[in-house]
Amino acid sequence: MKPAISRPDLLRRLPRKRLSLLRELGTLADERGVSLYLVGGVVRDLLVKRKNFDLDVTVEGDGVAFARLVADRYGAGLAIFERFATGRLVLANGIKLDIASTRRESYSKPAALPDVEKALLKEDLYRRDFTINAMAIQLNAAHFGHLHDPYEGQCDLKAKTIRVLHEGSFVDDPTRIFRAIRFAQRFGFHLESETARLLEVAAATDLIAQLSGPRLCNEILLLFSEPQPQRSLEQLAKLNLLRFLHPDLRYAGTSKQIVRSLPKALAWWTRCCGQHFLDRPLLHLMALLDGVEQPVVEAVVARLTLSHEQAMRVRAGGKRLKVVVRGLRGARRLRPSKVCRLLNGLPEEALVLCLARAGGQAATVARVKQRIFDYATTFRTISTALRGDDLLRLGIEPGPPVGRMLALLLEAKLDGVVKGKAGERAFVRARLAGAS
Ligand code: ATP
Repeated sequence: MKPAISRPDLLRRLPRKRLSLLRELGTLADERGVSLYLVGGVVRDLLVKRKNFDLDVTVEGDGVAFARLVADRYGAGLAIFERFATGRLVLANGIKLDIASTRRESYSKPAALPDVEKALLKEDLYRRDFTINAMAIQLNAAHFGHLHDPYEGQCDLKAKTIRVLHEGSFVDDPTRIFRAIRFAQRFGFHLESETARLLEVAAATDLIAQLSGPRLCNEILLLFSEPQPQRSLEQLAKLNLLRFLHPDLRYAGTSKQIVRSLPKALAWWTRCCGQHFLDRPLLHLMALLDGVEQPVVEAVVARLTLSHEQAMRVRAGGKRLKVVVRGLRGARRLRPSKVCRLLNGLPEEALVLCLARAGGQAATVARVKQRIFDYATTFRTISTALRGDDLLRLGIEPGPPVGRMLALLLEAKLDGVVKGKAGERAFVRARLAGAS
């Protein structure tokens, strides 16, 4: 293996606590008589001076035994993943640490999870996705800060190039197709020509169809969590990869326009209304699904095995938002209760989508914005002073009539027709009198 080069400056780019932890781990590895390395994305990011809070270390030897030792020494929580001989620790100061054993991987069939065997560092780096992610920094005291770069990752970083380590890479693990797009977009890198060819060949096969729902979902949502998801979407469309979500899915026309309007809509939302959680990657998936029929939405939900919570949010999108936006754009005056009828039950992501698809004349967009703003900041926080019990005491029959009266009361309150508890009581009595 090419000799390692001493780069003490690299680890010094880490925050102080992390740096001293790595020093201590190196000493612990010396006591154990094993070699220890910092590996993967964090090494790449140290080289490009990008913040990265993941600490992935790998032991040339028994990683699980070393993880147990570290957990004992630091009183840390530990989860072991036997299949991959790795351990995940959370230290008392909140630092997360993944400890693995250097290993070689083989694939019994394309797109399957790999079989794993212990191996030396060079082989461990060879099993990785791209040269820029296949570097390691040694942590043992005598070699602390030595950079191992057997596949010229540094060179590719300088040349802004994404390069696979061998020609079977995308076939072994088609998630690397998405990873290549993600890293290229994130860093503004290009695919090395042979890598680009191999990716196109793999993308044209049905390999991605063999990926499990959670693995495909993870890759799609990671792509959409990058700063400019619209670029990744363009790549997905160009490579015809959206077919793996659903054959009818296109990134064109309205969905493209909406995705392009999202940054502005999101910025406004965060500034003016954003006190609740908003799932940005999911919002981009919803934007992509804008305008498709509900069965397509359902098929994508199933293919990606979305969680119940994610599925609920995604189902609120699709073609049905067209009707909502039409309502919001229309009529110069729209009573607050009408605005609530249109927007009630929609998750935050759908509200942002409504804004993003409001496009058109400035006055119309301003109207939609104002209505969404009023709803998000005021209308949806309003409730009736009277509760169900109060209505029973006023003589409403138990059961559905209570809910119906509460809804009427709320609408009257939203529209300013009733005010105060006494006003609400009077409203209910008048309704009862009218009904009898
Ligand atoms: P990010 O900055 O997005 O977290 P990362 O490179 O740290 O990027 P991880 O998914 O945390 O990405 O993976 C850590 C390392 O594990 C990678 O740098 C790479 O060396 C290796 N790796 C991850 N996924 C794969 C894969 N599908 N095939 C091969 N190697 C992989």
